Amino acid sequence: MAKKQFKAESRRLLELMINSIYTNKDIFLRELISNASDALDKRYYISLTDPAQKVAKKDLTITITRLPDEDTLIIEDTGIGMTAEELEKNLGTIARSGSREFREQLEKGTDKIDIIGQFGVGFYSAFMVARKVTVESRSIHEETGHIWTSTGEDGYTISESDMAAPGTKITLLLKADTEDEKYSEYLTEYKIRDLVKKYSDYVRYPINMEVTKSVPDPTEEGKYIETQEMETMNSMVPLWKKQKSKIKDEEYNEFYKTKFNDWEDPAKVIHYNVEGNLSYTALLFIPGRTPYNFYYSDFEPGIQLYSKGVFILDKAKDLIPDHYRFVTGLVDSDDLNLNISREMLQQDRQVRLLARSIEKKIHSSLEDMLKDEREAYEKFFDNFGLNLKYGIYKDYGVNKDQLQDLILFRSTNEGKYTTLKEYTERMKEGQKDIYYACGSSVDEIEKLPVMAKLHEKDYEVLYFLDERDEFVTGIMREYDGHSFRSVNQGDLDLESDEEKKAREEKAEENKALLEAMGSALGSRVKEVRLSARLVDDPVCLVSDENGPSIELEKYLANDPMNRNAVKATKILEINAAHPVFEALQKKYENDPSSINEDAEILYDQALLIQGLPIENPAEYARKITELLIRSAK
Ligand code: ADP
Repeated sequence: MAKKQFKAESRRLLELMINSIYTNKDIFLRELISNASDALDKRYYISLTDPAQKVAKKDLTITITRLPDEDTLIIEDTGIGMTAEELEKNLGTIARSGSREFREQLEKGTDKIDIIGQFGVGFYSAFMVARKVTVESRSIHEETGHIWTSTGEDGYTISESDMAAPGTKITLLLKADTEDEKYSEYLTEYKIRDLVKKYSDYVRYPINMEVTKSVPDPTEEGKYIETQEMETMNSMVPLWKKQKSKIKDEEYNEFYKTKFNDWEDPAKVIHYNVEGNLSYTALLFIPGRTPYNFYYSDFEPGIQLYSKGVFILDKAKDLIPDHYRFVTGLVDSDDLNLNISREMLQQDRQVRLLARSIEKKIHSSLEDMLKDEREAYEKFFDNFGLNLKYGIYKDYGVNKDQLQDLILFRSTNEGKYTTLKEYTERMKEGQKDIYYACGSSVDEIEKLPVMAKLHEKDYEVLYFLDERDEFVTGIMREYDGHSFRSVNQGDLDLESDEEKKAREEKAEENKALLEAMGSALGSRVKEVRLSARLVDDPVCLVSDENGPSIELEKYLANDPMNRNAVKATKILEINAAHPVFEALQKKYENDPSSINEDAEILYDQALLIQGLPIENPAEYARKITELLIRSAK
């Protein structure tokens, strides 16, 4: 029989599995049971909606068989089964949607455990304990079955089988024991029972196994004999139907990891029950890390939908609003129509009610987390904050009221995260606006000329380190009556009345000088004026209050679609208290024509300080060199 080769990525994952880089080999069982349970879910759902596929609930089972003499462990289910094509597609390829990313991560040399975590170990985990895996399966849609066999490295074969009924039977020929690893443990009743209890207790189908029981000997009083009996090892109560107070954290965590393919514990578990017009139970999770493809189009958001404990849909995305799309989990309602399909979800009134109720709960849970578990919330925000910000400016800000108290910014308040509410509570007397400064790092922002003035006034400044931050506040316009104000834009309102008066007088006295500088710079600036925001630096560039900011110009300049399209209206500000101003005044008095070159130099300096490119660096360098030579004369 011809051997087929695994896809390249699958082979790499298999190698990782076979060489067992992960020490907790036990999890192979929960992965296989979880697959079996999914297959039973699918079959049961079809049986409810298609009379030709009727099956009794009691016939939906998982059976584990131990054959110690043959080093063999068998996990069987009466689920939906797989056709030959499905065997090939599902078991010959790993991480179907994520295989490109998988390869990239491997090439980047990311920690191997991390890689597997991100892509889900799934079926291949069988190779951690088995030297040969045989999958015999018959789809409910076919009369014949097929056998898939592989020893891992050297590909797999598929042949026909005469399987009598639909379902899947996975046979593991266990590896030989070594000094460190006792694979034969998996053939003991005790070990299997223990693993099922630990990882798969909540599975809603019976997991049966033949066990040894001691029963009284009917022929001799007081004596016991051993018999073999089938026993259901799991309690079959789905985790979400159990009483909250009776569930341990680690049960939630294990459930999350198995069911939603993550390696890390969730950051937050939201488990609740609603009774009333629409009764439902939800068990939701916020992942402890950002899924590798979260910001890509192949990420599939959504939660699982159950109706009266029957699995209906896997990724019901209409149940979760876009701004909370990082939430996974499931919802189980008694009031939903079983025949609901993916397409009908959006139209269904009950589903809309359900979605709204879930949204509210997620919102209040995040609020609680922010209030009571600050550290965890900040970590959550590092993972998914971008998505919340996106939620604020999406759809022209319809959700901003809901989301504005959930976003965090770092600020001059020790560089720590702050909410807008906390910021406004710390505002100084007389401070009207919320100040922010854009830059790619705290360092870069702190070097902005204007920051000295704000520190002098002891006004807190939000660090906008993400290019999107300004879009967020642009959509919000204000928070609790306070406008957002870029430290590099318009009038900052930092002076006292006297200071303002003094500056205006000085500007009047130097009107000719400032205007001469303005005409020297032509269309590059709207105006040259005396600054109210500078302390130590000679000059700075700011943008006009009502136009795009310099940061936006910078941001859009990186976007090929927008090149040159958006330009900020710039204003050159001079620090009248800086010695350079006095020098300018003197030179201008003696030789008015000198102002042209001086204006150029100062303008270029302002650009450089702001991290903007200057138009003619060679020319700038020439002027500075000449200045040096002249100053030596
Ligand atoms: P995952 O379960 O995360 O999708 P797996 O590698 O565990 O990844 O399984 C791949 C696919 O193979 C499953 O999505 C399912 O379609 C199919 N499959 C695995 N086990 C079974 C089973 N016991 N019965 C039917 N289909 C199965």
